[in-house]
Amino acid sequence: MRRALDHALDEILTRPVATLAPPLRNNLRMGAYQILYLSRIPPHAAVNEAVSLARKHGSSGMARLTNAVLRELSRRGPAGIHWPADPVQRIAVQESYPDWLIAMWIADLGLEDTRLLARSLNQPPPFGLRTNRLKLSRAELVARLTEAGVRAVPSPVVPEGVRIEGSGSQSDSGADGEPHFEEGPTRGAITDLPGFADGWWYVQGEGAMLASRAVAPSSGQVIVDIGAAPGGKATHLAELMGDLGRVLAIEPNVARLALIADNARRLGLASIEPLLGDGRQPLQELMGAESRPLARGVDAVLVDAPCSGFGTLYRKADLRWRARAEEIPNLARLQVELLDAAARSLRPGGALVYATCTISRAENAQVVRKFLADHPDFAPGNLASVLPEAWRPESRDGMIQLLPHRHGTEGFFIARMERAGA
Ligand code: SAM
Repeated sequence: MRRALDHALDEILTRPVATLAPPLRNNLRMGAYQILYLSRIPPHAAVNEAVSLARKHGSSGMARLTNAVLRELSRRGPAGIHWPADPVQRIAVQESYPDWLIAMWIADLGLEDTRLLARSLNQPPPFGLRTNRLKLSRAELVARLTEAGVRAVPSPVVPEGVRIEGSGSQSDSGADGEPHFEEGPTRGAITDLPGFADGWWYVQGEGAMLASRAVAPSSGQVIVDIGAAPGGKATHLAELMGDLGRVLAIEPNVARLALIADNARRLGLASIEPLLGDGRQPLQELMGAESRPLARGVDAVLVDAPCSGFGTLYRKADLRWRARAEEIPNLARLQVELLDAAARSLRPGGALVYATCTISRAENAQVVRKFLADHPDFAPGNLASVLPEAWRPESRDGMIQLLPHRHGTEGFFIARMERAGA
């Protein structure tokens, strides 16, 4: 909420908060955050805490200034702040985003959806597990989690999904890269939940689960997964195939590639073959002579593309300040190149699924339209027929854009395309 906090502080300070020394500036921001957003902390306690921090780590002058500014802020309260009148600026400042991102969403989605989206991405994320149904049923998993005191309920919209409720805030900042719960009934490492080592589940959002479902894989098929690490969708594909067939999991990042094998092992899956390489390279180059049996083309390709990641902003709050508008056309170019390569390894009649964890038309629908325009042998697929019932009305032209405030999922985009021929 940095931008919103600075706006509120700037209304009171005589010089901009950005020009203050970092310790003073950040102490004021922390105090203001508690006063404006944490109703469980009484404002006078927030002021006292900030003043004592300023005295301890700064000077008596800093303590006096902190006291005066935060007292005035508590007197005014959230209702006393004047937010900008301009609609773009108002959302950007009040919900704390860069102007360009809000302007882009307004152009893509309209004002009202942007307001709700921006707010919803500032809330704690939904948190869910995917049942490894090759190990146990979802009902069994829910029962085991419940016995362990976890509030787990079956997802009403994805058959293998389990929602963990009341988990409070959750971050993926754990030293091991695994998500950690910071508060709530499941405080602690996620790996402490029952069944982690036994491979009963994988941490995955419902949007991501729909991407592998959009492939509609069946036993015995050969499927290429481009951009595969850490293996969330590759392992899901293998599970949906009953671990019978081949999932060729391509990933250029060596360290991340190792995670695919780790996850496959933990989940007890044998059909995944991690392959180091760039998704734009032909399979022959990546696999050498081993690619010969695949010369006719593989049954399906999933491109889970590198993207701007705005659908995950609630877990990566600072991403909004690191992202650059200029990166989006570069990402879109890479995404089209990955789809072009995917098309070359697909057999006639095969399915090509494109997924991103972002909310950006330039990286989503426009990439799909460009690909379809360049490849007359491909057509929008029947996405509705392969998605679970609840999602069918949401897809259009073989595409679905999941929005947190509308669908209760992470922000996610999926398109299914099919290549002509039998
Ligand atoms: N599919 C993964 C899962 O479900 O767990 C998540 C994939 S993440 C959205 C995108 C991945 O694409 C990253 O691991 C990134 O390293 C990889 N990537 C980046 N550039 C790539 C390229 N040129 N070819 C293939 N993969 C690439």
